Amino acid sequence: MTYVVEARRVKAYYITHAYGVKRTVKAVDDISLQIKEGEVFGVAGESGCGKSTLLKVLLGHLESPLTVVEGSVQYNLDGHPVDVLSMTEREKRSLRWRQVSYIPQGSMHVLNPVRRIRDTFHDFISAHRPVSKSESLEMARAYLNTLGLPDKVLAAYPHQLSGGMRQRVTIALATILWPKLIFADEPTTALDVVVQRGVIQLLKEIQQKEGSTLVLITHDMGVHANLANRVAVLYAGKVVEEADTHSVLKAPLHPYTQYLIRSLPSLDERSERVSIPGTPPTLDNPPTGCRFHPRCPFVMDICRTVDPEMSSVRDGHRVACHLITERADYATTA
Ligand code: SF4
Repeated sequence: MTYVVEARRVKAYYITHAYGVKRTVKAVDDISLQIKEGEVFGVAGESGCGKSTLLKVLLGHLESPLTVVEGSVQYNLDGHPVDVLSMTEREKRSLRWRQVSYIPQGSMHVLNPVRRIRDTFHDFISAHRPVSKSESLEMARAYLNTLGLPDKVLAAYPHQLSGGMRQRVTIALATILWPKLIFADEPTTALDVVVQRGVIQLLKEIQQKEGSTLVLITHDMGVHANLANRVAVLYAGKVVEEADTHSVLKAPLHPYTQYLIRSLPSLDERSERVSIPGTPPTLDNPPTGCRFHPRCPFVMDICRTVDPEMSSVRDGHRVACHLITERADYATTA
């Protein structure tokens, strides 16, 4: 099995010193992930659970005070494994966009407001390939057409496009060099439902056309349901459950994932929406043992002191919960 991205026991903390007081926020705390070639791998969880920090670590984008205190992240592109966390900025730049791409949140931050879209495409393409202005324009036009986007957007300024079209243009810009590995950070946030559908469709098309690997970071389980092959659920800086998307949505095992699914709006009026009791913990002083224990209806004594390890329940389905190991019947009845 080829893993395009392999994170091993990564701990990434925000470490600050103010007025002689050291503060450590454990945003990513002992996370291991294996992402397969050509899959859409979803990372889910409430805001503040560590998703964005995990993305920074997987991209090797570390800026003080974020520090990786343990673990490694490896890319395996073209059969050449590279250790992302020990790469120089120059080595990272040589991979970025051509092999590894990133679709950020908020298209307005990416597109230069005072340049037409065609100029932004030219700036981007010419930074990586020796192309003339007419060649980059032709490349952009052909690519937009492939994706079913109107090439008239090339003449527009960002503010002249709708939010949905801007986001689609941003996705096209980030993928025009056909990267093998794409990271997308909340790509549908702040878009209405109809526009979201178009953006999801576009991501699906891009991923399927080239067989790229897509790592999709979003709190929106509906987006995972539509796009992801597998999903890892994060809670308070840790992965608590990982499985194929169908299992996570239809037969979640971890109590937190169960709440997450039951809190989703449903077309089935008979099923009641349930909110998660309590609030997520602060990551500078997380609860001992299982970090979900103050909110968990199944809490046992062991949960308050012993941090549960991820264990394999069924083929490809992993969970970190003492219920699974303490009560053999739970995994079959949940
Ligand atoms: Fe609940 Fe214990 Fe499982 Fe944590 S380990 S989710 S507290 S049952």
